[in-house]
Amino acid sequence: FFPILLHLLFSATTPYTTLPSVLLIGPSGAGKTALLTLFERGPLYTPDQPTSADKPSVSTPVARTHTSQVPSTVELAVSPDSTTFRTDLDAAGATAKKFLLVDTPGHPKLRGHALSQLSASSPTITPSTISATSSETHKSKLKALVFVTDAAALADPDSGALAATAEYLYEVLLALQRRFHSRSGSRAPASVPVLVAANKLDLFTALPAALVKSHLEGELTRIRKARSKGLLSTEEGEGEGAVGGEEGEGWLGAYGTERFSFKEMMEFDVEVEVVGGNVLGEGPGADKWWNWIGERV
Ligand code: GDP
Repeated sequence: FFPILLHLLFSATTPYTTLPSVLLIGPSGAGKTALLTLFERGPLYTPDQPTSADKPSVSTPVARTHTSQVPSTVELAVSPDSTTFRTDLDAAGATAKKFLLVDTPGHPKLRGHALSQLSASSPTITPSTISATSSETHKSKLKALVFVTDAAALADPDSGALAATAEYLYEVLLALQRRFHSRSGSRAPASVPVLVAANKLDLFTALPAALVKSHLEGELTRIRKARSKGLLSTEEGEGEGAVGGEEGEGWLGAYGTERFSFKEMMEFDVEVEVVGGNVLGEGPGADKWWNWIGERV
């Protein structure tokens, strides 16, 4: 009797559940839309196709770029016994975990919206265009974050991509760090792991993932130093001016360390991993990213 009552109670209070979500974030041009499209159209490549064949290619142009402020969302399913991406939701079976992949605009002016959602104790996002469901907006629990970078642009010192990418990543990681302090009551904030996807490894000019990692860590160190100096003098940092406030608030990672390392983010329950891949062309492809996501949704 008791379990039945519990069941009734549970189903009465939760008439439906919104799928958890994974947020795609990063500077524009890094390949977020291309990646979303690749995952969405996954069934075009049957999983038993030889992996070396033309797998990462996408049959239709993927160079759509966002012009709207509305993030685009796709519903995907990851099956524990599949090592490549597929989205045949029905065929995926009962063991498949469904989730929403939400793309965000990379334009600096539109970033505030994406960032503002990350500092909550249990971050949720409101995906606005969920295919096949009603247009009602439900809040979806944020499970993980994929920060997409252009590893070829990062290799080019004249492009300014390293500084721009690190600046954005700094904001993202700082927002997640703040989330750690915004705990409500005794409940620990939900952990939000971050995958830094070093994209475009099909290009021979691209930096390998290990170098993307060390370059970003170096640049984040530089930004952190510059900001802490800015904080001491004027309270007014560059940009949106959200750096002021308590001592150390704009400081990313462990306080007082000389060089920033992604490992420091573990103090705030933020796991950061840098993994290389590519959406187009020949290369390692996107499977590792897919598996990373699958392990965290
Ligand atoms: P977004 O602004 O982050 O959504 O970036 P897009 O998805 O619009 O991609 C920007 C450009 O990079 C497009 O021209 C894509 O075709 C290209 N692109 C995306 N992924 C790859 C990749 O893995 N390799 C190469 N060579 N180009 C890519």
